[in-house]
Amino acid sequence: MSDLNLDSGFRRNDDKKTTIVARKLLAWFRKHGRTHLPWRGETDPYRVLVSELMLQQTQVERVIPYYRRWLKRFPTMTRLARASETDVLKAWQGLGYYRRARSLKKLADKLAACGQKALPTTRAELEALPGIGAYTAGAVLSFALDQPEPAIDTNVRRVIGRVFSCSVTRPRVTFSVDDDLQSIARVLFNKNSPREINSALMDFGALVCTSRAPKCDACPLKTSCVAFKNGGIDTTTVTLRAFSRPRPEIAIGVLREGKKVYVSKHGALLIALIDGSDARTSLKALAREYHSVEIAVRPAMAHTTFNGKPASLHRCSLLYGNTKAIRIATQRDLRRLPKRSKDVLEILKLL
Ligand code: SF4
Repeated sequence: MSDLNLDSGFRRNDDKKTTIVARKLLAWFRKHGRTHLPWRGETDPYRVLVSELMLQQTQVERVIPYYRRWLKRFPTMTRLARASETDVLKAWQGLGYYRRARSLKKLADKLAACGQKALPTTRAELEALPGIGAYTAGAVLSFALDQPEPAIDTNVRRVIGRVFSCSVTRPRVTFSVDDDLQSIARVLFNKNSPREINSALMDFGALVCTSRAPKCDACPLKTSCVAFKNGGIDTTTVTLRAFSRPRPEIAIGVLREGKKVYVSKHGALLIALIDGSDARTSLKALAREYHSVEIAVRPAMAHTTFNGKPASLHRCSLLYGNTKAIRIATQRDLRRLPKRSKDVLEILKLL
């Protein structure tokens, strides 16, 4: 069994606790899980992706008829690529947030242009596609392909957060809570099916460990739950409040290959101002526009302040592009980095 990520500042949980939580969670899920959902057990990544995009900001029961109609109309990625945008938006009509439909169409067009009929099957490749972030990539890989990839949505964040109480702060840096949650989810997978564990966590958060009125008295996890032991919902609310931090205004990306770090031709790390979009999109746009490369950006590993502004720190990897615009940093480059950039590398354990 893999250890929890001790570097993230999370106190090590013994294997016994995670084994018990996983066992009880799965027993609950097999009895009470939402098996009626049409995307449950679906093994086609495209279909899982459609369901996940529809479920963003829309309630489950409302999504079901749209999902069924959509798949009759566009049963494959190729059929979606062949459709006109007008037809696609018409099929989405009534679900709202049309940005999701446009992303899906854009993604299908992009894959079709490269001659690909199916979605890629790695996190980095998926996250490089329009409209796919860390959660959606994890959901597609775990639900469709049963890959051991965490899918941390609001429900999962709440359940793991309450059971393991993982809000962590340090004097200079607040480590990303999602990183801790992902580590715990990976330990819960152990020899279990990641598809089943992720589905169970989501259903448990939606039906039992709800945000306002968790059913603690009837909860099968209560003997393992830190929030419950600490006084239940009141403490839970406090614990969850500790998760909030100022929204980052700066995104700092360290582009790397193994232990080697890339710098721009001027010898700098990737530093993007976040303006109107999220940190990862800002870093991808910066890499594309100023360095002519496409990069994959991992969720924030840590948060700190940079020039007095809240900043998120990300590890990035190179996908493709004109590599003359960046180069692998020499020892001299690293020595010449400003102290604040060296601090970033140190925090990400790359120095
Ligand atoms: S005991 Fe309450 S807070 Fe803890 S997991 Fe169960 S429902 Fe959630």
